Amino acid sequence: MTFQELGLNEPILRALADQGYEQPSPIQAKAIPPALTGRDVLGCAQTGTGKTCAFAAPILQQLSGHKAQGRPIRALILTPTRELALQIQESFEAYGKYLPLRSTVIFGGVGQAPQVERLKNGVDILVATPGRLMDHMKRRTVRLDKVQTVVLDEADRMLDMGFVRDVTRILDQLKHRRNLGMFSATISREVMDISWVYQRDPVEITVRPVEESKPDITQYRIDL
Ligand code: AMP
Repeated sequence: MTFQELGLNEPILRALADQGYEQPSPIQAKAIPPALTGRDVLGCAQTGTGKTCAFAAPILQQLSGHKAQGRPIRALILTPTRELALQIQESFEAYGKYLPLRSTVIFGGVGQAPQVERLKNGVDILVATPGRLMDHMKRRTVRLDKVQTVVLDEADRMLDMGFVRDVTRILDQLKHRRNLGMFSATISREVMDISWVYQRDPVEITVRPVEESKPDITQYRIDL
């Protein structure tokens, strides 16, 4: 299986090759084709499986196929922590380096002013932690009325951390949303509930976690 066979376009294929990716990981092979056709995906996959590329590549391809006046936010990725948010945005930059799309990241614990400035300049893709995004929504420093695609990354962790209300409030405000992707290490009751309410006939994909690194075991032979 190659990335080309999954239906990705040339600028993305080139960027993935630059990253040194030779072939799709299982979650990528299973999630990219349905996501490219606009299906919702519910992926049971941990960090380390390549899930970021599994949701980022289809978003980049879909956005690059349609121009939008004034660069409104068209894709929103919610993730529980600042570290994950930064990593995801770096991945969007890497996979989208040959595309004329812009992304930015917002999270709590830092000043809002630079974030407001970046949002004002226009971004196609926003990666955010839910609490800080809610702050921007309350202050009306972010506009989400053109968001088409949303991804909940590490959904179980995000909901466990108490972001359920923020996440549902955000989803309820996105009147023009067409797709919701959810990726989660476990499909907990809360994850199922959100999927049930907000996803439409999702493709369910489970990939086994990457093998835990095993401790070095030295074997001894005992000659009796
Ligand atoms: P993720 O699970 O998205 O956090 O990705 C885990 C790591 O795997 C990251 O360092 C990625 O750059 C890398 N990775 C993702 N997809 C592939 C691939 N198809 N081939 C090789 N490495 C990959």
